[in-house]
Amino acid sequence: MSGYVYDFVDGNKDLKDLLGGKGANLAEMTRMGLPVPPGFTITTEACRAYLRTGTLPAGLLDEVEDHLRGVQAALGKTFGDPDDPLLLSVRSGGKFSMPGMMETILDIGLNDTSVTGLARVSADERFAWDSYRRLIQMFGRTVFDVPAEAFEAELAGFGATELDAGELRDLVRAYQKVFETHTGRAFPQAPHEQLFLAIGAVFRSWNAERAVLYRRQERIPQDLGTAVTVMAMVFGNRGDDSGTGVAFTRDPATGRRGSYGDYLGNAQGEDVVAGIRNTVPLHELATVDAASYEQLLAVMQRLEDHYRDLCDIEFTIEGGKLWMLQTRVGKRTPAAAFVIAAQLVEEGVITLDEALRRVTGEQLAHLMFPSFDEAAAPPPLTTGVPASPGAAVGAVVFDSAAAAAATGPVILVRRETNPDDLPGMIAAQGILTARGGKTSHAAVVARGMGKTCVCGAEDLRIEGDTCTVGGRTVRAGDVISIDGGNGRVYPGPVPVHPSRVVRYFEGEVAADGDPLLTAIERLMDHAGQVARLGVHANADTGADAARARRFGATGVGLCRTEHMFLGDRRVLVERLILAEDATEREAALAALLPLQRADFEELLTAMDGLPVTVRLIDPPLHEFLPPLEELTARVARAEALNEDAGHAGVLLNAVRRMHESNPMLGLRGVRLGLVVPGLFEMQVRAVAEAAAARAAAGGDPRPEIMVPLVGTIQELEIVRAEAERVLAAVPGAPPIRIGTMIEVPRAALTAGEIAGAAEFFSFGTNDLTQMTWGFSRDDVEGAFFGRYLELGVFAVSPFESLDRSGVGELVRIAVDRGRAARPDLTVGVCGEHGGDPASVRFFHDAGLDYVSCSPFRVPIARLEAGRAAV
Ligand code: PEP
Ligand code: MG
Repeated sequence: MSGYVYDFVDGNKDLKDLLGGKGANLAEMTRMGLPVPPGFTITTEACRAYLRTGTLPAGLLDEVEDHLRGVQAALGKTFGDPDDPLLLSVRSGGKFSMPGMMETILDIGLNDTSVTGLARVSADERFAWDSYRRLIQMFGRTVFDVPAEAFEAELAGFGATELDAGELRDLVRAYQKVFETHTGRAFPQAPHEQLFLAIGAVFRSWNAERAVLYRRQERIPQDLGTAVTVMAMVFGNRGDDSGTGVAFTRDPATGRRGSYGDYLGNAQGEDVVAGIRNTVPLHELATVDAASYEQLLAVMQRLEDHYRDLCDIEFTIEGGKLWMLQTRVGKRTPAAAFVIAAQLVEEGVITLDEALRRVTGEQLAHLMFPSFDEAAAPPPLTTGVPASPGAAVGAVVFDSAAAAAATGPVILVRRETNPDDLPGMIAAQGILTARGGKTSHAAVVARGMGKTCVCGAEDLRIEGDTCTVGGRTVRAGDVISIDGGNGRVYPGPVPVHPSRVVRYFEGEVAADGDPLLTAIERLMDHAGQVARLGVHANADTGADAARARRFGATGVGLCRTEHMFLGDRRVLVERLILAEDATEREAALAALLPLQRADFEELLTAMDGLPVTVRLIDPPLHEFLPPLEELTARVARAEALNEDAGHAGVLLNAVRRMHESNPMLGLRGVRLGLVVPGLFEMQVRAVAEAAAARAAAGGDPRPEIMVPLVGTIQELEIVRAEAERVLAAVPGAPPIRIGTMIEVPRAALTAGEIAGAAEFFSFGTNDLTQMTWGFSRDDVEGAFFGRYLELGVFAVSPFESLDRSGVGELVRIAVDRGRAARPDLTVGVCGEHGGDPASVRFFHDAGLDYVSCSPFRVPIARLEAGRAAV
């Protein structure tokens, strides 16, 4: 064994860094004594050297020659022998699989002389010429970038029927001309030159544009390089006792035990991929070639036992002899991932910890969405940004009031949404917007509700009660279907399958007898046992809290109290804003108090015995007033009619007075508490009175009070002192902890001081991301994130998945400094990231006590919390 080249007998499955997935697994199969054609793998290190210098590293060719001699000896054939040539395949294969990015060249070693030799020894002239034309085509495309269409055009010239040997010979001549025209040189006749050029081309393919883009998206490092596997050709296209196929050791769709796959007689692998002829189910091989079939089943069993997982396999049968061309731990559907992991535990093959590592929160999320019956769907009208997954069908409504008033299912269609649309969003089955991306208001709120949402469908033109899209007019009342998983918008109703996994979490169906549900139950149980991170829910109503609890939440980590001031109650907030003196203000607050108290009682009832973190009001108060444009229009209309603008005029003045250029950085959060007398006090009293009432009724209420947007301890101290005064004055209330959100970078940096006045921290990572990056969370998606993602500035929006190196660093700093100052400080997170699988792992590593996320993401976070611990 030497530097750059590993013979199959010298590698093993753990050398993926060096030999790529394909090379490592071929080596492993060789070591297991399975029938693998002889060959060797050139390391990723050689590729990296080539990419650095532009030339094959010194000594590589000698090494290749050396290993080639080994292959020749094993087969008793010679590379370049004109009478009975050894032919080779050259394939790329990196550490991570990059489907569709792979370069493969088959039949290397053929030339104008040896093609006749091959025809003689195989006694099959047609096969020999067909192999030669495949070589010219693949070699031309891969090594010299000859456009595929140029070859295809020649082939088309020969008509649609199967070509005979003579025609294939003519096709070879035609392909050679194409090659010459595009490259300015003749097709290389020297087998070694073919081989070396092919190796260089495979190395270069690592940096092909589509490969670079793919890696960026999949977060695969760009500097790994690809390995190159060189293997003796075996032929599945040498008559009826030959063929090729793919096989799985379990059903990759459902996880069912058994052998699955497809077989194509008298064909090569690329024919299966190209779908030129129909394959037959694997078990039909038993009738064609029982011995090979039995041998294949035995090999598959050995591979499963060895890899302790579902394997997929590519094989070829040449003249009744079985050869293994590839294996790997196979891809599978989300459902199969759970079923197989649980089966393998049952079979005693893997431990529960290992099983947990083999499933993901993303897979569980996938299983929780309803889905459309794709086969029954018409062509889509348009495609927008898939913002919140699911499948929703309903009549189109263009405003929130119509949605709220509707009796049947509706889809709320808006240019964009704002907090005013909340009642409509709650009532609708799904939300479709023309503007905004994955962190637009519509997207964030919809995800929070577990509601289907497609946003940013830019060719949607909304005019009053109609919209045009894809050249069609859609009117209010017309039924449409939207798919939040892929962004498609369909005309008319498309049949929907509800998620049985959600019905299981809701307690509507039992797991017994259902392989998927029992698998999920088993793995979720184990996740619960090993997890260190708790999972709370963001919930503002008793109903949401109750659902979250059914889904396994052990508390409410964020109740956004501003959501309790919408709808009918908005007028009361208006009265508060417009109050001209203390008496008016106190009257407005007194009217709000019992409503808030009742809300909190509901929440505390649903989460009896578990913590409920109530956040004091956060948004700027002018969000509760009608928009400036609307009021201006109302007042202008009144003036035009010489009428008194009345209330609209008063509101307009207030809106003008309160206008802010940057409301997100304006009078909101803790600042409201310091500036608007009595507001926080009323909320704290409502919490305390609700808790006292619950306790008196025999409940176990555990509310906590959380202050938003704190940047310095002074702010928190002032609010805290007032809150403590109020709490002390409510008889019968249990002890209520007071803490703060950490969502301003300054709060994270001064967490050591702030912990002096906070019994707990909860990271508001939405605002913390917004303020750390200086990105407006409401605008960036539509504005420039698309371009940023394309350019690879980041692979995923930092509002979706926590930016570890920036925002994450602030989280770590705050945890460390906060805990150093107050060792028993409870620390959680309640931004959107609390339900994002990758972020949950980070929060586990950062030592948080819990994550809080929307009720629908609770099972996902529970699973991920368990996975983070094993
Ligand atoms: C946050 O900023 O992360 C947070 C939870 O608060 P909101 O989303 O309500 O601003
Ligand atoms: Mg916030």
